[in-house]
Amino acid sequence: MSDLPRFDVCVVGSANLDLVATAAQLPGPGETVLGTTFAEHPGGKGLNQAVAAARAGARVAFVGAIGHDAAGATLRDLLDDEGIDTSGLVGVDAPTGRALIGVAAGGENSIIVVPGANAHVDVGQVNALVTQARVVLAQLEVPLDVVAAALRGARAAGATAVLNPAPAADLPPGLLAHCDLVIPNEHEVERIGGAATVLAAGAAAVVVTRGGAGISVHSADGDVDMAAFAVDPVDTTAAGDAFCGALCARLATGEGLAAALRFAMAAGALATTVAGAVPSLPRRAEIDLLRRAG
Ligand code: ADP
Repeated sequence: MSDLPRFDVCVVGSANLDLVATAAQLPGPGETVLGTTFAEHPGGKGLNQAVAAARAGARVAFVGAIGHDAAGATLRDLLDDEGIDTSGLVGVDAPTGRALIGVAAGGENSIIVVPGANAHVDVGQVNALVTQARVVLAQLEVPLDVVAAALRGARAAGATAVLNPAPAADLPPGLLAHCDLVIPNEHEVERIGGAATVLAAGAAAVVVTRGGAGISVHSADGDVDMAAFAVDPVDTTAAGDAFCGALCARLATGEGLAAALRFAMAAGALATTVAGAVPSLPRRAEIDLLRRAG
């Protein structure tokens, strides 16, 4: 790490503009139904976590890809408005990532995810920015060779390499060896072979998020459970993204892991109290209030 990194957190990941339509019932194959409401929502784990880290107080850079289309322009504007550096966000000849989400009156949904531009994030985009951050954070919604290059480059530059292995996927051999910290949820940790496997691969700590049950921290010092903050959840979407972004923001300040985890749990809890993904990501002042009060 250079003496003065330009960024606290560099997030390497996906950015989507999701389309959500509600209807009394979902259409079957070949069927057309009349919808009742329609909305566009920014998302993608990469974008969500970048915004979460920025709102938690970090100077953030985002590395990703969008299409040369209106959706891409919307996402770039959003990142700019959050004060996030977008010099590593490239435009490619593919549509901006999309999720088409149909929601029935009973809450049942059907989703088509089109990675589009996210599948075109390139290894060549990574090095310039990951070497200028204290913490590098990646997920699994961009090509895995890019994820590996980001984490490896971070480590080589002396930054902390953090992987949120979501959505659950099999990892290529060797990927975990580039990680300092791995943050799976309960399903994802099984998919990557369990916490002990991740520690054996070289990570200093594994933090398993357990929704309303809090977290389990696994490290060479042993295993510790931390209880979640008590809140009244209305929508748990993006709780994990709030947690990951906030945790990296605090780690970049040099705060110890235990205190940073408490801050991140407060952020995750707050995210469940507001509907949606980006609208639910809390800011530093309210996270501090909850972590001191709880
Ligand atoms: P993911 O969305 O990746 O599955 P989790 O649901 O485990 O992630 O949420 C991440 C963290 O957010 C949890 O470890 C917890 O600290 C906090 N959190 C999530 N749901 C709740 C809840 N219902 N009440 C309090 N805190 C929560």
